This record gives sequence, structure tokens and C-alpha cells, in this order.
Amino acid sequence: MASAVKLMDAWIPSLIEAGSLLVMNATSDRDTGGMNCGILHCPYCGQLAVITETQMQGQEMITCGGQNCPARFFLRDGQTVPIAAMGEETKQ
Ligand SMILES: [Zn+2]
Repeated sequence: MASAVKLMDAWIPSLIEAGSLLVMNATSDRDTGGMNCGILHCPYCGQLAVITETQMQGQEMITCGGQNCPARFFLRDGQTVPIAAMGEETKQ
């Protein structure tokens, strides 16, 4: 099931919940090639994950790094869409 991503303007720990996304501008960072990156809290387990701009644009799958979390999903239209649910969508 898809769930909404909560876009944050700043890193405010008390407001962080599962599904929170903070976009970091890294245009001057040589390590990322000038691309933005984001910090996403897994919508399923809350584990922190650093994601790339490609993943934020929904072009690349995000895999949760949580030890007991099998979540694999895409970001699409401000929502996290699990792989299984995407397969169901294409059948219709
Ligand atoms: Zn997770």
C-alpha cells in the first residue's frame, strides 16, 4: 500500500516520523557530483536512509537498510510505492 511522504523544511527531530524526507542541497559537494540527496525515514520501520536524487525522482528503487525490514519501494508523486503494489498497478 502506498503511503505519503512528509517533506520537511528543516531537520527538526521532534517532528520526524516514519516517511519523513529531508532534501539536502549538495550542489557544492564533489562526492555526489553536484546532485541533491535526501534523508528518508523508512515508512515501514523508521530506519534512516540516505537516498540519491535519482531515487527521489522515482527512477531508482529504494531499499531499506533496516536489519529486519524487507521494504523495497519507489518514491512517486510524494508517496512511497512498494514494489508489490506497483506490480498490481500495471495489471489494471
Ligand atoms: Zn524499513
